Amino acid sequence: MYWKKELKRGKQFLADKELVKAMRCFESAVDNCPVTSSAGLEKSLFFLGITLKKLGRTDSAMRCWHLGRKIRNEGRSRQMISIHSNRYGMYRNGDSDQVEDEKAFFGLQLERYFKTKKAKRFCSEAERDVILDIIGAYWSELQADGNFHQLSIDEKIRFFRNQPVIFPVADISSLNNDSSGEIIYTDFKKGELQSMDDLCSCGSGMLFSQCCGRIKSSVELDSGKF
Ligand SMILES: [Zn+2]
Repeated sequence: MYWKKELKRGKQFLADKELVKAMRCFESAVDNCPVTSSAGLEKSLFFLGITLKKLGRTDSAMRCWHLGRKIRNEGRSRQMISIHSNRYGMYRNGDSDQVEDEKAFFGLQLERYFKTKKAKRFCSEAERDVILDIIGAYWSELQADGNFHQLSIDEKIRFFRNQPVIFPVADISSLNNDSSGEIIYTDFKKGELQSMDDLCSCGSGMLFSQCCGRIKSSVELDSGKF
């Protein structure tokens, strides 16, 4: 089967440190593996993630492992998520708390912005520059105030999500949709709000922060692919 050959070739390229070639093979394995073969898909995504990580594209690596874990909970993608997630479920780069907070803030605000757009990504470099500038300026102000540093992770996420950063409206047609509602994650079985340190209520056995509650990075939100 073609995808199996691609997976095998990819592993050889990976061993030879031919990372870009390895990435293409694993991408092709993912594209060609039948959806019925969950083990094969998960394996291909796992290796694609490993290769992307080695290429320095850590946010994309994380996305692969999350896709892989959803397809097959028992695979090795799951381990990668546990090892490499920070408190927000984003890739742990050895960043300071402050840098992790900043990345989470950008991810959360960008998610807000994309909700107002039909195309869930930036459509031009200019748009990207403007929006990231706006979020950056707001972040600087928050930093200067500095009154969120003592909050817990759960409180920080609520605080970051509720910051009313004002964006220019890019897509008039989306104004009809109600995009203002805040999402509140609740464990309906327990009737409690989910905390980042809890086990996720979806039953995956993962931490909420590493599963349904993870904050997506701006890279992942923007490209929506690998
Ligand atoms: Zn979950």
